[in-house]
Amino acid sequence: MNSRRFGLSLGIDLSPKEKSCNFDCLYCELEPAKPTDRIGHPPKVSDVVHQVKKALKKFPDIEVITITANGEPTLYPHLDELIDELLRIKDGKKLLILSNASRIHEKKIQHALKKLDIVKLSLDCITPRCFKRLDRPLKTIHIETIIEGIKAFRKIHKGLLVIETLVVKGINDKEEEFEKLAKVLEEIKPDRVDIGTIDRPPAYKVKPVNYERLFALASHIKNLPVSIVSRNSDKKHYVDLDENEILQLLTHRPLTIHDINALFSSNSIHLFHQLLQKNLIKKYTIGNITFYGVK
Ligand code: SF4
Repeated sequence: MNSRRFGLSLGIDLSPKEKSCNFDCLYCELEPAKPTDRIGHPPKVSDVVHQVKKALKKFPDIEVITITANGEPTLYPHLDELIDELLRIKDGKKLLILSNASRIHEKKIQHALKKLDIVKLSLDCITPRCFKRLDRPLKTIHIETIIEGIKAFRKIHKGLLVIETLVVKGINDKEEEFEKLAKVLEEIKPDRVDIGTIDRPPAYKVKPVNYERLFALASHIKNLPVSIVSRNSDKKHYVDLDENEILQLLTHRPLTIHDINALFSSNSIHLFHQLLQKNLIKKYTIGNITFYGVK
């Protein structure tokens, strides 16, 4: 898998036989399934490690080893042991997990995940109503516990923390929900926020929002690098900003070149490059994504 968001990646599927997830998100790319708290037929640690070693030999250019699942990888019963083994063989590659954050409040999960270079956690909603409607978790899972868990984990994890929010039309695309999300994100202070929408056939009949809406919602999030993930972003939207306006925008809202090209008029793009040359705008990379901001 070539993930432009983290680098050339080798994916490990910890639930290869069946979907095993404690959520049943409306937007899931997998088949709808009743949420569960266990992985059916989990592979053995030794088998996973053997396959990873083989793949690393065959594809030496791999940059990231991604722990994932047909569902939720933190349900894997031997996660801590597997991570220790992967740390031994990773050979300079980065270790990443993609999790729905449902177990991040548990000490043993925090202990396992804090050893990873990159942790990407989902956070779609802040209000319990929105969370239950969109992510459809097991009844025992509560969004308040997840939020507290993410905050606690942020304090002990030395690696990169990325939070991903997926926006679904008519559900979590309301201003009030995003204002609350922005506040919580500012408290968590992740290294990067990825905001996206549905771009593959979803499990249920739900619709994506457009790029303009994603950008407008993302504007609630201040002082954090936000990357908008949208197929529609190739379409131009032309905002005409002068030098001061560009500097002001990038002070509060670092942007990717993709978003700058999608948003700015050609005159603003020209001014942006001049500011960059004058060193008034700084360029920095977070997990393979380059941002431009004023620091
Ligand atoms: S958490 Fe991921 S795998 Fe689980 S239902 Fe949601 S989108 Fe699907």
